[in-house]
Amino acid sequence: RAKANGKNQVVVFDAHLRAASEQSLRIESELWLALERGELRLFYQPIVELASGRTVGAEALVRWQHPQRGLLGPADFIDVAESTGLVVPLGGWVLAEAARQLARWDADGLAPMQMAVNVSARQLGGDVLLQQYRSAVDAAGCAPQRLEIELTEHTLVDNVDVNLRLLNRLRDWGVSIAIDDFGTGLSSLAYLKHLPVNKLKIDRSFVDGLPGDAGDHAIVSAAVSMAHALGMQVVAEGVETRAQADVLCGLHASLAQGWLFGRPVDAQAFAQRLRDQDAAQSPLSICTAA
Ligand code: C2E
Ligand code: MG
Ligand code: MG
Ligand code: MG
Repeated sequence: RAKANGKNQVVVFDAHLRAASEQSLRIESELWLALERGELRLFYQPIVELASGRTVGAEALVRWQHPQRGLLGPADFIDVAESTGLVVPLGGWVLAEAARQLARWDADGLAPMQMAVNVSARQLGGDVLLQQYRSAVDAAGCAPQRLEIELTEHTLVDNVDVNLRLLNRLRDWGVSIAIDDFGTGLSSLAYLKHLPVNKLKIDRSFVDGLPGDAGDHAIVSAAVSMAHALGMQVVAEGVETRAQADVLCGLHASLAQGWLFGRPVDAQAFAQRLRDQDAAQSPLSICTAA
């Protein structure tokens, strides 16, 4: 292609490539410093029980308070973290901070809940995850049942044999495991019954099409039925509208997460949300509505 377009095209393409790799080199070196300097933050998004509208959990989502570029989301740095292996220490920090935050909220007398943390495939090598998890909950003094881990469907099926051993160890500790972005992995469903998984998070791309898209409706409906048949809870991701939530309620999905209920916010704002809930402001209850 480059040849057909002549020499100038090659030069331009090359310049783009070089700019892209310089950019990722810069992110890599800055991210090391960010970890050392404590520039990473966790934001928390509520996970809501559809029947009651109550917040029963939170997902911890990493952010980078960059000194020049402001607050960055995972899209700006997680790929570089993955490809360089930096996601391993980053993931260790996320587990530790999530456990600490859970303990702080407990100490503040806020409603007990579960915290979900995203774990990268890179953390699954050897005993890294087991060690990171153990030191996170031990240091914070929080019960392992409270800190759930999320693994994407891709991550889970990539190396099922190794993962199975690791996941069984975690399950022995009472750790809840969720499959993230379910439906995007293009994998055989047969593996599901072998994995010690407690929750299935239906990817936002299927929830997007509700209520209009018949195909998305069929996929979400099938995923909910299958999860329930296998004894798993369902979390619908990316719920933005009341109409989507109504469909999910009709399908008996128990949990949901999305902008309709709340965007990811910092710890202080999330605590305020929990306090407002305790003060019995009527939450956005979906399934009990007429
Ligand atoms: P995820 O685990 O599937 O997290 C859900 C993402 O969807 C979050 O994006 C969240 O802000 C976004 N979201 C939630 N509700 C809605 C909604 O109603 N509409 C729309 N349009 N989006 C919604 P975020 O925070 O940018 O994170 C993106 C991805 O980055 C996460 O996807 C996860 O795969 C990864 N990630 C986040 N934190 C970590 C981390 O600590 N470690 C690792 N390894 N990956 C992380
Ligand atoms: Mg997740
Ligand atoms: Mg997801
Ligand atoms: Mg995702």
